[in-house]
Amino acid sequence: MESKHELITLPNGKTVKAETGLFIKNTFVESVDKKRFETINPTTEKVITTVAEASSKDVDLAVEAATEAFYNVWRLVDGKERGRLLNKLADLIERDLEELATLESLDNGQTLSTAKFIDVGLSIDCYRYFAGWADKIHGKVIEPDSTKFAYTRHEPIGVCAAIIPWNFPILMQAWKMAPALACGNTIIIKPSEMTPLGALKVAALCKEAGFPEGVVNVLNGPGPITGDAIAKHMKIDKITFTGSNATGKSLLKAASESNLKQVSLELGGKSPNIIFADSNLDQAVKWAHMGIFFNHGQCCTAGSRVYVQDSIYDEFLTKFKDFTESNKVGDPFEADTYQGPQVSQMQFDRIMKYIECGKKEGATLVTGGERHGDQGYFIKPTIFTDVNEKMTIMQEEIFGPVVAISKFSTVEEVIEKAHLTKFGLAAAIFTNDLTKAIKLSNELRAGTVWVNCYNLVNSRLPFGGYKESGMGRDLSKYALDQYTQVKTVQINLE
Ligand code: NAD
Repeated sequence: MESKHELITLPNGKTVKAETGLFIKNTFVESVDKKRFETINPTTEKVITTVAEASSKDVDLAVEAATEAFYNVWRLVDGKERGRLLNKLADLIERDLEELATLESLDNGQTLSTAKFIDVGLSIDCYRYFAGWADKIHGKVIEPDSTKFAYTRHEPIGVCAAIIPWNFPILMQAWKMAPALACGNTIIIKPSEMTPLGALKVAALCKEAGFPEGVVNVLNGPGPITGDAIAKHMKIDKITFTGSNATGKSLLKAASESNLKQVSLELGGKSPNIIFADSNLDQAVKWAHMGIFFNHGQCCTAGSRVYVQDSIYDEFLTKFKDFTESNKVGDPFEADTYQGPQVSQMQFDRIMKYIECGKKEGATLVTGGERHGDQGYFIKPTIFTDVNEKMTIMQEEIFGPVVAISKFSTVEEVIEKAHLTKFGLAAAIFTNDLTKAIKLSNELRAGTVWVNCYNLVNSRLPFGGYKESGMGRDLSKYALDQYTQVKTVQINLE
């Protein structure tokens, strides 16, 4: 049964059109069981609308559609045409940027400017970047000896499923969908149940762009139901995941116990941000602030452990605290707001627990540490000092506006402290000594090291984690390896 779109009223009285069905075979449909779940506006705590929830029966239908589209259509479409469609999709997202960004702010709580310039803006760039690769995916000629001629083909893997988080919903969809489709795979997107609306709007644009039916499918629903059915499915060839470590590990287990589907994982972090006395202090304060408080601390790369060299520690802390307190927390639709609400009640409670834990374990609360206002999931930006690496707030990913700042004196000491974590997603160094920056960045066990900047991502640069922060790389030419498999063809010339 087809599902109808909803008209959602915004705080300014305007309306925005939202699809709320499952997207299978280029049609928005109700789930087989007709089940729906609510999606909540984190600014008001009110229900925005209800969205169709996919069970294993709907997963079967989407897999069937994606399989048919893969074997009979998409893998046979020329790369040039795949690229044209991805470019068309990027153009349509650009056309509807305002509406998409508004929907994201409403559903996720991210500020409208973050939604416009990062979540949606970087997605447009990502689709265009991978559109350019679609007709440049090829193997090699290898001549193993004088009597044989061989070549490799870089072929698509098949039906991919992308299980994605809520922190940048449209961007995470783009990071997975753009390279998967460019390489000739079909895809099922499973957005987070916290933010189901953006992916559905992008699905409508895929249809408008002219993607054949079954190439892109979107199934909303809870992780333990929809996500679990995807993870265990025998006919899904690959899972590309961004989310928490616990879920990442459960996906690996499910893959190994089902059809050994390929799995790539982008997981959490507890990234160290190292600030030397010879850095430009005002710049370091601004970047370190953005490093942790951007998107309300809901970034996998968040610089949640800031290490400051002892001779500038006091000055840094004073400036950092002043800057933090000067940024406005509030309505994500207001132009001067820096920090909106956390995404959900669950995340709000989780972060508040970590704050209590920090206090109990003896860290000093410098500012924040409490709810902001009396409606919405707002938390004041929070700074802890007097921390050590054994504390929970120094070990676990908080995924909220909470930073721990501590001192160091030597390079050796800070390397040792930086590495006292199971994660290895990102790190940053602030110094004007380039030699020191390069030597230290070589030492740091992290997938990305920023020097004199923070949280910059670019479609042209690989992104992923060391240690327990993941397996595989998103973005850049490296991502093509995640969505292709290599076939060897050997010809006997004798
Ligand atoms: P999460 O693991 O709870 O959920 C992520 C996705 O997995 C959601 O779609 C969810 O429905 C699904 N899921 C949950 N349980 C599942 C299960 N048992 N089987 C299958 N699917 C399941 O993570 P989250 O809270 O949505 O996102 C925050 C996490 O994502 C943080 O840990 C953050 O660091 C990480 N993250 C990582 C990156 C990166 O690129 N490394 C980027 C953004 C976010």
